[in-house]
Amino acid sequence: MSVETSLNQGKTIVPLPPLAIAPAQLLRGAGVISQLGQHLPRFGKRALVISGDRTWKAIEPALAEVSTTTDIKFSYALAIDQCSDRLLANSLKIVNQDQIEVIIAAGGGKVLDLAKLVAFRAGLPIVTIPTTAATCAAWTALSNIYTEAGAFDYDVALDRCPDLMVVDYEVIATAPQRTLVAGIGDAIAKWYEASVSSGSSDKTMIIAAVQQARVLRDILLQKSETAIAQPGGDAWREVVDASVCLAGVIGGVGGAQCRTVAAHAVHNGLTHLKQAKGTLHGEKVAYGILVQLRLEEFNGNQLAATARQQLLKFYAQIGLPQNLDDLGLGDVTLKELEQVAAIACLPNSDIHHLPFAIHEQQLVAAMVSTTVPVAVNQ
Ligand SMILES: [Zn+2]
Repeated sequence: MSVETSLNQGKTIVPLPPLAIAPAQLLRGAGVISQLGQHLPRFGKRALVISGDRTWKAIEPALAEVSTTTDIKFSYALAIDQCSDRLLANSLKIVNQDQIEVIIAAGGGKVLDLAKLVAFRAGLPIVTIPTTAATCAAWTALSNIYTEAGAFDYDVALDRCPDLMVVDYEVIATAPQRTLVAGIGDAIAKWYEASVSSGSSDKTMIIAAVQQARVLRDILLQKSETAIAQPGGDAWREVVDASVCLAGVIGGVGGAQCRTVAAHAVHNGLTHLKQAKGTLHGEKVAYGILVQLRLEEFNGNQLAATARQQLLKFYAQIGLPQNLDDLGLGDVTLKELEQVAAIACLPNSDIHHLPFAIHEQQLVAAMVSTTVPVAVNQ
């Protein structure tokens, strides 16, 4: 924890790290995007819409309606590929040229991350509209930056969560089912990572975050199979809320100390393999949870072995990857795995939040043995 101490007129101030807990306002419901026109005018009259290609079709009718019922003028930036420094610079140029007053971000995690960073750098309010349930990026005050090639580069902590978040179930229902499955993988990681990094904390807010992560895990274990079988149904909505909103709450309440451990570190390493480009963030993270549990097993944790067996069953039910083969990495070489492990074990990696020291070779061993039966392990 970084606690700064400063002197102010003889008084010692010891601030805790600031928390960005939640969007200022959350609109949820089927068709709520049609209410945008009631909410946007308070942010300004010139809006920059940052969206992906597929997304554009989903939000265009709602924006056309806003154009006819208000005097808001829209500019557009198409965000394809990654949230990268180049796209960031392009968007900031439009913000200046068009004297933008509010950013509207619609899309998946990478588009939302880019737009949040644009708003942060420009000091503007932001409205987020997640169009998939693949991540909690529409909620959080964090942007992950990738290289043009798609490799994880670095992350930026933002000063606050979005000013308005619009969860329209009709919009999210148009996304491929695979994105919801990936979102479940990313959300369920909250428990496996937060309980390791912060499970023994005696701080009220962190205890609360870890307990919410446990609740989130239980909801996902109970409802995901039904949700996937009945898209748009009651269980589906609850699982969308779990992946898009509750996962964000945990990051917000827990703050920087309660975020990621090995599952996301393995994800970050995998993004450097070009063969891994075809898989989604939450798919790589889900596999990373199994790798993390293997590392805990190596360290003598039998509960981790039990948890891994439970997750393997769950992954099989809903279609999350259980091993490298499922991730399309069946032909990966030892050398490539060593590179992934080296990146995941860099000094500033979150993998070092594990309560024991980790060696790159152990990580490679964990990565190739995520489906090994518990009996063989003993
Ligand atoms: Zn994630």
